[in-house]
This record gives sequence, structure tokens and C-alpha cells, in this order.
Amino acid sequence: MRISVKHKLTIFIIFLLLINLVIISILTMNGIRTNQIKEYERYLKESSKTANLYIRERYLASDIEDFETFYIKQAYDLTIEIERVLGIHTIIFDNQGRQIGNEVFKELKNEYEDIITKALDNKIVYKKIVDKIIYAAPVYDFNGQIGVMQLEYNLYLQKSFNEDTWKLFVKFGLISIIVTFIIGRVFFINIVNRIKRLKKSVKLIEEGQYDISSILIKSKDEFGELSTGIQAMSSQIQQNIKQLSDEKAKLQLALEHVQKLEKKQKEFIGNITHEFKTPITVIKAQIDLMNLYKDDNNLVDKSNIIVNNELKRLNQMVEKVLHLSSLEKYDFELEKHKIDTHVLLKEIIDKLKGKASKYGIEFYYQLEPCQVYMDRESFMMIFINLMDNAIKYNVSNGKIKVTSNVKKGVNRIEIADTGIGIPDEHKKRVFEPFYTVDKNKSKKLSGTGLGLSLVKKMLEKQNATICILDSERGTVFQVNIPLSKKEKNM
Ligand code: ADP
Repeated sequence: MRISVKHKLTIFIIFLLLINLVIISILTMNGIRTNQIKEYERYLKESSKTANLYIRERYLASDIEDFETFYIKQAYDLTIEIERVLGIHTIIFDNQGRQIGNEVFKELKNEYEDIITKALDNKIVYKKIVDKIIYAAPVYDFNGQIGVMQLEYNLYLQKSFNEDTWKLFVKFGLISIIVTFIIGRVFFINIVNRIKRLKKSVKLIEEGQYDISSILIKSKDEFGELSTGIQAMSSQIQQNIKQLSDEKAKLQLALEHVQKLEKKQKEFIGNITHEFKTPITVIKAQIDLMNLYKDDNNLVDKSNIIVNNELKRLNQMVEKVLHLSSLEKYDFELEKHKIDTHVLLKEIIDKLKGKASKYGIEFYYQLEPCQVYMDRESFMMIFINLMDNAIKYNVSNGKIKVTSNVKKGVNRIEIADTGIGIPDEHKKRVFEPFYTVDKNKSKKLSGTGLGLSLVKKMLEKQNATICILDSERGTVFQVNIPLSKKEKNM
């Protein structure tokens, strides 16, 4: 059976109180009794002295010569008068221990013969019988002992006093137990309630609820200190758990990032191996052909052209792969300069105009003057790539429109062509290294599939973005270069 602390404490206090009461009452009653004994001993001694004095006075006043004769003859009167003077029932005996002065009792056997015999030997003797004291003391004449007197002292008063005192102890004991029980209960319930609150706060922490301020004990004692301690512990645990989960989330992110990079790297290496093998195989085959048909000038010339083209492509690929991997690997600071984007775009258009006109393609442009802080080389490479693609993947007599404007702190540049376009499902993937929509076409145009991924990487380094817009015809690339504070104020 489970007994709660508040019951245990109440029982314990009542038990202590009971022990206390019993000890105090026993000691008090013993004290009272010892005192009573001393008191009646003194009283009886004094009484026996008074009785002796009285007998002697009465003898001196009488006519009888011999003391002993007087004592025996006047025994009855003496007994009556001593009883009257002392207020104690008295019997007197001669020196043989025979009762004198009362003819009725003379014949009766004295039931306290033992103490009378002892008193005859000049001693004071008494014994307690039920609720009275039988006291025997010698009676003297002027020379020595002539008999014994027996005084009967009633203990009725002491007894009833003792009984009343006991009753008082019991009564006040009961009252104090009830009062202690009530006060103790209130006090212990208060303490137990505080313990329950502490228990509840520990339980809440166990369940992962760390806000225990609503059940905080605010008293300035050990309970208050313990409660504040638990709260401090709870916030510390909460903080540690938060830190741990933050770190776990960071680790998870880092792990996902590493996994993604690893996957990308594998794909990249797989692509490089594939893309590099193809031109090498072509070159090797052409060299074999040239060796076989050394005399066929026509074939040798054709093979020479093919080998040169493949070598050119291979060289471009090596350069782009190196550039791309350096952009991936190193977080180098680019040299940023103030550049006029409208001027540079016009420069690129002028450079590529010749190539475009070969296919009857015309450039149109609308360039709002704008200055940005950017690496000049990167800017040139990005837009040469995009405009070159607009020529490569255009149709004969097609058009290319280049626009540049400044809106909401951004230099927005768009290159729109009237070419073959990029199907929606490929739009996102064309920025991946080695990704081409049509392998054969790209190869024919000595493409590497690395241009757009390089463009995207370089723009990311400049905090700029690139996307392909939806268009009815051809392809529209949109580049957004944010202006820095300096540029915005320009
Ligand atoms: P490539 O060297 O093959 O041109 P890019 O990375 O520059 O490599 O382009 C990736 C692919 O995106 C190209 O192979 C082509 O299929 C497609 N592409 C790029 N620009 C255009 C464009 N202006 N019009 C149509 N397709 C394009």
C-alpha cells in the first residue's frame, strides 16, 4: 500500500507528540507522588509529636502519679481527644503491643500487628494500604517508650487529585493532538503541493516541454532555490538540444551538398571521358586513312581539315573544362572594374557581325547606357558565348536582337534569336556541362556543350542570373546583373 508523504509526516508528528505527552505525564505524576509522600510523611511525623506532647500535658494536669497507669487508664479519652485535635483516626497501644482505650476493639486482632511490633522497638514505621497510610510511632513518657500510637491517614484527596491530573493530561493531550493534526495537515499539504509542483516540472522536462515558468515556485527558501535550479537546467537542456539539432541540420545539408557534388563530379568525369574520346578516335582514324592512302591528295587534304577541326574542338574543350573546374574549385576574387555594358555589347556585336552575315543573319540592338562593376574578361566571354550560340543555332537570314536596359537596380540584357529554339524540357538542362539538345548538330557546329555551363558559373560569381524566356519563335536568353550601391547612385 502506498502512503503519501503528507500522511506519513502527519502520523510521524502525532507519534512524536504522543511520546512527548506520555513522557511528560509520567514525569509529572512521579514528581507529584514523591511530593505527596514527603508531605504526608512530614505531616504524620508532626502529628505523632503533637500527640506525644498532648499526652504528656494531659498527664501533668492529672492527679495520677504513675505515667504508665495514667496512660492505660486514660487511654480511651486520650484516643478521642487526639483524634479531635489531629483529625486523624488514632489507636494507642501499651508497651506489650496491646490495644488500649477501646474495649470493643481490644479483643479484635490488630491487622497491622507487624508494624506495631516494629514501632515497639522505638521506630517509626508505616505502610500504605489501598488508599490510606497506617502510621505507627512510639509513645514516650519522660523516661522512655511506654507504648505505640497508630495513626490512619486517608489518601482519598491525593488519589482524586492524581486522577483529576491524569484526566487533564488525557484531555489536553487529545486537544493538542487534534490541533497538531489540523495545523500539521495544512502545513504538510502546503509542502507536498510544492513537491508535486517540482515533480510536475521534472515530468514536463522529461516529455520535452521546457517552458516551466507557469509552475515555478517563487518562495525564498530551498523549494524556491530548487525550482529556479530546475528551470535553469531546463533552459540549458533546451539550448543544448537546439544547438544539437541545428548542427544536425547543418551536417545534413553539408552531407546532401557533398553527395550532390560527388554525383555531379562523377557525371562530369564520365562526360569528359566520353567527349574527349570521340575527337581522339576521329583523329586516329583520319591519320590511319592518311597513312593508307598517302598518294590520294584529295583524301589527305580532307583528312587534314577534319584532324585540324577535331584538334581545334579538343583544344577548346580542354580550355573550357579547365576554366570551368577552376571556377568550381576556387573561390577567387574577380577583378571588378567599372564597365560600360552598352559599349562592350556593341563591341561584341561588331566582332560577330562578319560571322553572322555569312549566314545572312542580321543584328539589331537597343542599348541603354549602363555601368556596372564587373570583371571585363568574364563579361566579354559570357556575351560572346550567348551571341555566338544565337548565330550557330539560328536559321539562314535570321535575326538577332540584343537589348539592354536598367530597371529596379538591375541591368537586364536580353539576346533573342529567330533560330531553332530550345524545347521546354531541355531549357533547364542546357546549363549542365556537356549537355546538348542535339548532339550531331552541336558537333557539326564544333560545339562542346560547355559554353552555357561556363556562362552560368561566371554569372553566379558576379551575383548575376541567367534564364531562358518563353518565346513564340527562337530563343531568348535573359541576363540580370544587379547594380551595386555605387552603380545605383551613378
Ligand atoms: P555548345 O557548345 O554545344 O553550343 P552550349 O553549352 O553553348 O554548348 O549550349 C548547350 C546546348 O544548348 C547546345 O548544344 C544547343 O543545343 C542549345 N543552345 C544553346 N544556345 C542556343 C540557341 N541560341 N538556340 C538554340 N539552342 C541553343
